[in-house]
Amino acid sequence: MELLKKRIQSEGKAIGKDIVKVDMFLNHQIDVELIQAIGQEFHNRFKDKQITKILTIEASGIPIACMTALYFNVPVLFGKKYTSETNDNSTYVSNVYSFTKKQEYNIRISKEFLHENDKVLIIDDFLANGQAVIGLLDIVNQAKSTVCGVGIVIEKGFQPGRKNIEEKGLQVESLAIIDSIKDGIIYFI
Ligand code: 5GP
Repeated sequence: MELLKKRIQSEGKAIGKDIVKVDMFLNHQIDVELIQAIGQEFHNRFKDKQITKILTIEASGIPIACMTALYFNVPVLFGKKYTSETNDNSTYVSNVYSFTKKQEYNIRISKEFLHENDKVLIIDDFLANGQAVIGLLDIVNQAKSTVCGVGIVIEKGFQPGRKNIEEKGLQVESLAIIDSIKDGIIYFI
């Protein structure tokens, strides 16, 4: 998506060799028009899949998932993050290792909102090692629903996330794929 790549190149900040900050339009301040175009693009790519629910993780995935859901006319469900262990039979739980925070956390989704007949599109802002998506996939499997695809806004192509998800047989669609980061400059594939 050319518009997105231009925004990353002009406003994104590279932190070291493997982190990109896009707080000016995606992760803190949100450019709603851009997110709307992103939602429309995800709809274009997955419109034939009879999606019934958009699934993401709080917090940054939520606005993107909401704009995408508008085009599919389906609800958004987001994994809630918890760092403590509690036993709660009313939720599905999965453990995720955070690439940016370098620590584990649990995500929970109420059993009430995910069902066997749901066809799920997973949406997230970044793809690094694929741990967040794999945690969501684990929850979808617990609910015996079906994942029909994974939509990512910014994929870091030099990290193994895509490989880790594709080897589970899933279609991954990323709107901008970063090839490398060198001397603070972001290069796309
Ligand atoms: P993964 O689970 O694929 O290893 O990492 C993806 C998750 O970590 C995303 O949900 C995102 O919030 C965060 N993340 C990974 N890499 C980056 C990055 O370069 N920049 C930002 N802002 N978030 C990232």
